[in-house]
Amino acid sequence: MAIYQDAAYVKRGTGGFDAKYKPGDPTPHSGIYRCAVCGREDVSEAGKPLPSQNHNQHDPAEGPIRWKLLVYSEGDSIRRSRTGLKQGTAHSVI
Ligand SMILES: [Zn+2]
Repeated sequence: MAIYQDAAYVKRGTGGFDAKYKPGDPTPHSGIYRCAVCGREDVSEAGKPLPSQNHNQHDPAEGPIRWKLLVYSEGDSIRRSRTGLKQGTAHSVI
């Protein structure tokens, strides 16, 4: 489970959190991803492959790893808004 200390720096979002990704798929947003099968969490950076070999091995009965976005950083969105570009959201990319 993801843990935070100061609620002033996180907010609830609704768009883009339902999609499931395979290991090695390009990461849509920098942030924390949770395996929908076993619950393990890992961090991945936008544009880089989602974790595969470092993820714990599933029992064959569990099925394959499926990553879901748990928490993402707005770092890119803030940078875009400062430069006058359109602010992105998880919903607009996935
Ligand atoms: Zn898993």
